[in-house]
Amino acid sequence: AKIGIDAGGTLIKIAYCQNGSINYRSFQSKSMEEAALWITQHFENPTICITGGKSEVLAEKLNTQPKIILEFDATAQGITYLASRQQQSIGNNFLFVNVGTGTSMHYVQNGRQERVGGSGIGGGTLLGLAFLMTGIQDYEQIVQNAAEGNRENVDLKVKDIFEGAIPPISGDLTASNFGKTEAIVSERPADEDILAAMIGFVGEVLVTISSQMAGQYDADTIVYVGSSFRSNPLLQEIIEMYAGMIGKKPVFLDRGEYSGAVGALLAL
Ligand code: ADP
Repeated sequence: AKIGIDAGGTLIKIAYCQNGSINYRSFQSKSMEEAALWITQHFENPTICITGGKSEVLAEKLNTQPKIILEFDATAQGITYLASRQQQSIGNNFLFVNVGTGTSMHYVQNGRQERVGGSGIGGGTLLGLAFLMTGIQDYEQIVQNAAEGNRENVDLKVKDIFEGAIPPISGDLTASNFGKTEAIVSERPADEDILAAMIGFVGEVLVTISSQMAGQYDADTIVYVGSSFRSNPLLQEIIEMYAGMIGKKPVFLDRGEYSGAVGALLAL
């Protein structure tokens, strides 16, 4: 069997070929032993290609010698492959934004990627801030609770400032993330509302930076990947809304969080 692995800071993503189709599987990076055991027990004499920051650590735990490749190139290849299989047209020049533990932004032109920026704001921020603000640690619980929340109890919108008057920009835009201070102080918002606002905050920062980057590189399409979009429709909605307003086409790929792993698989 052929196996592509993206060993990241938080999650290990595995894409493998079986009976002609690609299958997917992920593990927590902190349970690397478990991932290595699963691989050695499931496959006989596999050929493996690994990418990602934890490549070397994982490679040591396997009993075959894997090929190791650069993560950025693997992700670009994986995105191109998944987009074409899903009939998503992303063109020959596009920006991709990988929202992993942190965020990395890349410009791709004629198959070659160049890293053009990044941000420490990413999926790790979601986990860390969520814990600090609500004490919740479980990712699925965080995103589920956020989906039930109402940001209006936490964020200040433009229309909240322009009471009655007609604002010069859409009143529904966020004027200040977490900025509804008076209301927050007089009554602590529910955890759900805080979590929804937090996802809004992360999404709005990322869509703003990446849209400006797309403008700078004259790319009309921005492909968003990374496990931070897993079970997290709220993050996707925020990015879709703002990117659309700015005139950049946002693209989300099914299994986009496996782009690096798919790219590694394709390198075999
Ligand atoms: P990396 O390659 O840095 O590990 P990923 O693309 O896998 O990055 O994204 C990691 C982020 O995905 C986490 O910070 C978290 O926000 C989110 N995430 C999605 N599913 C899980 C999960 N089961 N456990 C922990 N984090 C998860």
